[in-house]
Amino acid sequence: MDFTLTEEQVRWRALAREFAETVIKPDASRRDRLPNAAERIPWDWIREADRLGIRTLGVPKSFGGAGVDILTMCLVGEELAVGDLGFAVIMDQCWKMANILGEAMTPEQQRLFIPPFVKDAEATFAIGFTEPGAGSDHQGYYDSADIDFRTTAVRDGESYIINGTKRYVSNGCMAKLYFVVTRTDPTKSLREGGSVFIVPSTTPGFRAGFFHEKSSQRLATNGTFHLENCRVPASHLLGGEGLMARLRGDYMPGSKAEAAATVLGVGRAAYEYAMHYAKQRVQGGKPIVEQQAVAMMLGQMAMKLDAARTQIWRTAWLADRKQAEARTLGLLAKVNASETAFEACKLASEILGGAAIMHDHPVEKYLRDAASFLHSDGTNQICLLRAAEALAAPTAGVYGF
Ligand SMILES: Cc1cc2nc3c(=O)[nH]c(=O)nc-3n(C[C@H](O)[C@H](O)[C@H](O)COP(=O)(O)OP(=O)(O)OC[C@H]3O[C@@H](n4cnc5c(N)ncnc54)[C@H](O)[C@@H]3O)c2cc1C
Repeated sequence: MDFTLTEEQVRWRALAREFAETVIKPDASRRDRLPNAAERIPWDWIREADRLGIRTLGVPKSFGGAGVDILTMCLVGEELAVGDLGFAVIMDQCWKMANILGEAMTPEQQRLFIPPFVKDAEATFAIGFTEPGAGSDHQGYYDSADIDFRTTAVRDGESYIINGTKRYVSNGCMAKLYFVVTRTDPTKSLREGGSVFIVPSTTPGFRAGFFHEKSSQRLATNGTFHLENCRVPASHLLGGEGLMARLRGDYMPGSKAEAAATVLGVGRAAYEYAMHYAKQRVQGGKPIVEQQAVAMMLGQMAMKLDAARTQIWRTAWLADRKQAEARTLGLLAKVNASETAFEACKLASEILGGAAIMHDHPVEKYLRDAASFLHSDGTNQICLLRAAEALAAPTAGVYGF
């Protein structure tokens, strides 16, 4: 594998880094403390990301997007998250759909849904799996017809009627376009009997509920929304009935690597801040960066962050080449990156001492933000269980890949 970045990748990374350093980072902590979830949505940053081409990074070139590969999305996601994880997640939700837009949608669906998304500088996507009774149970590890997954889509002539409630959804209640996971055949497991519908927020019967208040990724929303006799044309069915069996593997191949890259960005932000602080703060007669106990922690952070990044890049490289092992490696990369970032934030807080919890410094925010990825995009336990299942499969190679 050759990880020399292309000129285009270097350009996107530099652009995202500058945006994060000059626009996002200086105001992220203030916005994070605003009390109301709706007030915190960074519409101005979303519009700026649109102007820079970042919002439509995953849209195929033929529809006016940048159509970049998964590795480039990882590079940009890490940079944005150094500025603010919530904002990076808002963007990543749009990029996660890249392969859905390009490969799962019919030409008619592409013509109907992609141009309005490209044209509207504030448009974002959301994907609704989670429900009150099904969190880990929609991840496919325990895949049984008896899970408490209640959103159904029932065929009625040339339409489907959808009923159900989704919760915790990133970009939920602020997105313009939703990919809604439903059961079209409740007698089967979700993987076999689950189907995905494209639902614009303006569809009668789609009702935005509320934004969850939370301690992490506070600039992003997690929303609860309802589908109440929501009638959608049969042509809004994505990839045919039963797509759930293929959705994550075939059409969201970069999702775990991208998620991992964003949480890694928080770990990097914590490392960079701790390094800066340790050079300024004098105790024991010298800057604490020269105190070995502190230097060891910085060395450890750099070591683990770099290893996690290498694993993410390897996953992205394989996913870009549609290699099956990217799937298992992605699960492992997400677990590793989230644990590494959380640990880096903890070590940064050790280095800051009492200052770690003071609002004059961003480290307490980093720690809160990093915690979110221990259980979003599948809890780390479920990701490990899914990876272990694949590693133990009779078809797995010596190292499982
Ligand atoms: C920041 C954030 C963003 C999110 N974004 C989205 C989104 O965009 N779209 C969406 O649909 N959802 C989203 N979610 C929801 C997310 O997918 C779920 O929270 C996650 O899958 C875990 O479900 P749960 O919270 O109900 O936990 P639970 O499933 O209740 O898990 C609780 C504990 O039990 C363990 N556990 C559960 N089942 C098993 C098992 N079979 N074997 C062993 N251990 C088990 C878990 O590992 C965990 O430790 C988001 C969540 C967060 C926090």
